[in-house]
Amino acid sequence: MTLTIAPARAAGARELAALLTTANHIVLTTHVNSDGDGVGSEVGLLQLLRARGREVVIANPTPIPDRFHFLLPPDADKSERAVKEIERADAIVVLDIGDLGRLGDLGRRVAARGVPVACIDHHVSPGSLPAGPKLIDPTATATAELVYDFAAALDWKIEPECARALYVGILTDTGGFRFSNTTPRALRVAAELLACGVDPESIYEQVYASAPEGRVRLLGEVLQTLVVEADVGMSWVTVPPGALERHHADADDLDGIVEFARSVAGTRLALLFRQLANGRVKVSLRSRSPVDVASLAQRFGGGGHTKAAGASLEGSIGEVQGTVLTAAREYLRNGVADA
Ligand code: 5GP
Ligand code: MN
Repeated sequence: MTLTIAPARAAGARELAALLTTANHIVLTTHVNSDGDGVGSEVGLLQLLRARGREVVIANPTPIPDRFHFLLPPDADKSERAVKEIERADAIVVLDIGDLGRLGDLGRRVAARGVPVACIDHHVSPGSLPAGPKLIDPTATATAELVYDFAAALDWKIEPECARALYVGILTDTGGFRFSNTTPRALRVAAELLACGVDPESIYEQVYASAPEGRVRLLGEVLQTLVVEADVGMSWVTVPPGALERHHADADDLDGIVEFARSVAGTRLALLFRQLANGRVKVSLRSRSPVDVASLAQRFGGGGHTKAAGASLEGSIGEVQGTVLTAAREYLRNGVADA
């Protein structure tokens, strides 16, 4: 079966291509603490553009997690000199976010640069971006699915290195093809990517089965903090102070831990709290239908998807837990039906 591409996605792809096939120095970027979809989408797009002779680099606000380094071709990741790269850019593409706010300090550099800012994203939260072509669709499983559509709409060949990166985006954003965003189309796109030369076993090993010891020990420590409020259907965990440093771990090593809280029988809403270096507290939210965590996260200045969202709040861990857990309890008791 050939995959059809929605007309709006095809139109977005053509507008993006008009910019990206004429720009001289293209910079790709994604949100702070990039994940498999952010990096996979960036690398996939970079490979597509380099195959057409374009000069393109990745410049992220925070380092690319180690477990995705295997995707990076030589001279692709310039995140260490992101500001300089943005100053040279005549086109910028932000991937896997619809808002400059999640670019940290790079956000204002991107806005100040005054060049077209293209966007490829699948988040539901409303954001604001400078002018530029957009390929945005919250019904897409992952940003990587939209990068696949970009290539397919233009009839650009997807080489194995590109396919691998896009497969990682879809694999990780669906939690290994388990979450509710595992649509028939996502599986068809994944099948196409396998046909382009992806080896799923080696990808699995790189992404999920090459953990440094500290990641597993960190998991053990965080799970010790599990609190279950069975009466409201809420479970949460907290990263103990200093745990990342103790285990030589980083934010990426926390990926997936909140799923253990969600996996407790009867849980409708799961949360993970952690102190950020900038003094704020990050909350990751996961839910089961019909609980909509994107709307809950938006109340605290965050966003995401209906079943996976996040926010970062000012205050101590205790204060933020007080605020968020109180709102969450109230929402679970009274608000879910009208959300
Ligand atoms: P995670 O909890 O894994 O960091 O993120 C889950 C989802 O929520 C992702 O789609 C992510 O982009 C979104 N998200 C996480 N933190 C924030 C935030 O501070 N603001 C917004 N707008 N979205 C967030
Ligand atoms: Mn994503």
